[in-house]
Formats: sequence, C-alpha cells, structure tokens
Amino acid sequence: MTQPFSADVNASLDADVLLLIDGQWRPGSAQRWQPIEDPARQTVIGRMACAEDTDIEHALSAADQSFASWRHTSARERRALLLDAAALLSERSETIARQLTLEQGKPLQQARNELAAACEVVEWFAEEAVRAYGQVIPARQAQVMQYTLKTPVGPVAAFTPWNFPIGQLVRKLCAALAAGCTLIAKAAEDTPASPAALFGCFHDAGFPAGVINLLYGDPEHISSRLITDPRIRKISFTGSTAVGKHLAQQAGRHMKRITMELGGHAPAIVCADADIATAARQLAQARFYNAGQVCITPTRILVHADVIDTFTHQFAETARALKTGHGLAPDTTLGPMATARGAAHLRALRDDALAQGGKAVLLPTTEQEHGQFVLPSIVRDVPLTARVMNEEPFGPLTPINAFTCLDDAIAEANRLPYGLAAYGYSRDIGTLHRLGTGIESGMLSLNHCDLADPEQPFGGLKDSGYGSEGGSSAIQCYLDERFITCNAE
Ligand code: NAD
Repeated sequence: MTQPFSADVNASLDADVLLLIDGQWRPGSAQRWQPIEDPARQTVIGRMACAEDTDIEHALSAADQSFASWRHTSARERRALLLDAAALLSERSETIARQLTLEQGKPLQQARNELAAACEVVEWFAEEAVRAYGQVIPARQAQVMQYTLKTPVGPVAAFTPWNFPIGQLVRKLCAALAAGCTLIAKAAEDTPASPAALFGCFHDAGFPAGVINLLYGDPEHISSRLITDPRIRKISFTGSTAVGKHLAQQAGRHMKRITMELGGHAPAIVCADADIATAARQLAQARFYNAGQVCITPTRILVHADVIDTFTHQFAETARALKTGHGLAPDTTLGPMATARGAAHLRALRDDALAQGGKAVLLPTTEQEHGQFVLPSIVRDVPLTARVMNEEPFGPLTPINAFTCLDDAIAEANRLPYGLAAYGYSRDIGTLHRLGTGIESGMLSLNHCDLADPEQPFGGLKDSGYGSEGGSSAIQCYLDERFITCNAE
C-alpha cells in the first residue's frame, strides 16, 4: 500500500539549478527556465536554467581553451584534485541524496547508496589517472627506440539519463578528467539538481575554469550542436538505444570517438539445481531496485519448469514486502517512477502482456496505483509476441517464463538484439560454463547479482552499445594511443 505523505516530504529544492560554464554558475543567456517536479507528488519543486546557442558556444570555447593547459597537468595533480572532489562529495552526500530523492523519486537509502558508490568511482578514477601506461615495443634494430604514448582525446561531450543522475554522470566525468580531457555534460532535464550538486563538488575542489561544464536545455539541439562541432573529440551517451543510434550516426559523420551505454533486456536463467530461495530473493531485490528503472536489472526471467512454481512464489513474496511511498518517507522501499512517460509506457506493456494471454501472478488494483506510482506486477507464461518480451520494461513489471532445455533458454536469452547484462543460477560448474560462453552479453553475473562496481567492466554488446565505463578499460575510451619510433643513430 502507498503510505500517506507526511509533512517532511513537502520539501522543495532550496536554489535554482544553474548552468556551469567556464568556471561560473549562471542562468541561461535568455533567462529561460524549466520547472523541476517531484515525481511522487507531481508538484513543481524548483526550476532549471536552459542553455541557448550563445551559452553552448561559450561552453565549447571554454572546454577547448582549457584543454590546452589541462592536458599538460601532471597525472598526480589530476589524481589529487579528483581525491579532493571525492572528499567533498562524501561530506555533502546526505544533502545531495535528499535532492536526488526529491527530484527522482527513489527511496532515500538508495540515493545514499548511489552517492557512496559515486565516491568510490571518483577514487577509482583518481588512481587510474596515474596508471595510463603506454608500451615500449621491441625494435628490429638496436639503435631504434619505439613506444606508444597515451594522450587525452580532447574535449568530451557527455549525455546522461535520469535513472541514476549521479551514478551515470560520475563515471563519464571522472574517466574524462583522469585522462586529461575537458568535458561538457548535458545531464537529464528530469533530474537536474543532483548532477549540479555533483559538479559543485568538482568546481569547489578547484578544477580550473572551463575544464568541467554543465548544460541543460533542449537535448536534441544541444547534442547536435556539440556533436557536430569540431572542437568536441569524443561523445559518451547513456540512454535508450533509439537515441543512442541517432547520436552515433551524427558522431560517425564527424568521425568522433564514441562510448554508448544503451538499453538492455537482461535475461536471468534459473536452473533446476539452483538455490531457488537465494535466486528468487536476489533477482527480486535487483529487479525492483530504483522501481525497476535500471539498465542492468533482470527483466526476462527464465526458470526451469520443475522449479518455476516455487521460484515464482518466493519472487512474488519479496515484491509483496516492498513498501511504496515518497522516497523521503522513512519506510519506503519502492518510490514512484521518475517520469510520467515512463509510467505510461510500463502500464501499456502490462496491459498488452495480459491481453496476449500472460497469467497475472501479482497485479495491483487500480485503487492502489496513482500518478507515477506503478506497483510491482509479475506475469507468467507470456507469449514471445507480447511487447514486454521485446521492449525493455523500464519499471517494476516482470515476465517469468518456463524452459525445459538449457539450450532453448540460452537461445531465448540471445533472441533480442540487446546484450547488456545477464544472470544465471545453477550449482553445476558445467552449466555455469555453458551460460558463460553461450549468453551474448557484456556483463554476466552467476549465482549472485553483483554488477557495476567501479573496478568491474561496465558495457554492452549488440544494440546495447560499445565501450566500457568501468574497470581498467574505462579510461582507455578517453585516451588516444600514439606510436613513436625513433632512430637514435
Ligand atoms: P531517452 O533515450 O529519450 O532519454 C534518455 C536520456 O537521454 C534523457 O536524459 C534525455 O534527456 C536524453 N536525450 C534524449 N534525446 C536526446 C538527444 N537527442 N540528445 C541528447 N540526449 C538526449 O529515454 P527516456 O524517455 O528518458 O526513457 C526511455 C527508455 O530509455 C527507457 O524506457 C529505457 O529503456 C531507456 N533508458 C535507459 C537508460 C540506461 O541507463 N541505459 C537510462 C534511461 C532510459
């Protein structure tokens, strides 16, 4: 049941959200503002400045000019600044977590988790800055010395979404800064305050003017201005596959390097010999985290026919125990969906799954749902023609289907063009190995749900994108490799 809102959740943001350009916080040059809403109450809680062409141009010239000196700062200096920013982020994390919950809707504890993880990301990339090694390559003649240098690609344009407004942005920001790039970010207009607070930590830590810039406004206009401008050398986007493909086409026309972290539709295969209670609990916890708005959450659950009844019962129990409410209310474990368009999309997928013959295991009544609150739904035996079996359900709707043959389950896992995350549960090492080699996904978590730590590679295959935003390869996406051979005779 949804908890009534208490007085302490009637909060608003305490300041306008401004643009950060060339080291200055400022409103847009035309003083144009957009409202910011609390998704739980659907009321306006603040406003955000919008960038015009002159602001975009100013950010481009600041990122370009500051790159000339920032690229030559020592790796140790960049590391020290990043560690100072991490300390400020940690100090301010409770305030920022409250802003994040207010504008995005997630339970406060999950916002706190996002801030704690963000601090770890900053620290990880601070250490990566001092390890951007090149190579010495054995030459064919004694007097020849040859080697590679890693140099920053140049000013970066980064576009990030609203589901993890801090978590998605901090990876791009820190990888770029650690590599010696400057950056212009356009974070999500649905959740602008917490990214601005994140940038505030970096600004106050002393990053030079122009090195980090933050814009909001018309996404299509800003992205096409940035991507087509010759001063931008690298594009990084997290969001839907449709928008990602559009931006990748633009970037391709201008021969820009790109990292794309796009949609997924993660299969989870639960075998008959698995620890069913653990699998059901862990998958349900992962599935309903952040109201199901997670690109790596398990969204197509495939369970061996011998254990599907037990599994589904236990999975539904975890869902039933969730407490829906305003994210700032103390007991809430499931908040509203962050956007009205997302809630409408999810309800349409649910209606379609039922109309096509899926059997409801857990279904909220219309009285239980209101506004952007979409409660968990679980549907069994869903035909593959149903939209939810083909489109990413970016919210708490879960199809669970049975399989009898592991090869069929792997084929179903690979049926869609996505390949971001996948999960598997079994006690047999041979089965786990078949899942490991058979499932086409950038990330696979077997016998637990543990993805997205900063040291782990984070990225997809197929329509889920390319490039990694975690692990030791993440910084490489922001570095050029240059080869030098020198005859010293
Ligand atoms: P969307 O792709 O329209 O928007 C995602 C983000 O990209 C938003 O922050 C938006 O402002 C931005 N964006 C949109 N058009 C842009 C453009 N032309 N240039 C630059 N940025 C642009 O998605 P949405 O409506 O917010 O969500 C729809 C679906 O996208 C979801 O249902 C989900 O499948 C997917 N999604 C995935 C992630 C992820 O983490 N991979 C995050 C958010 C949404």
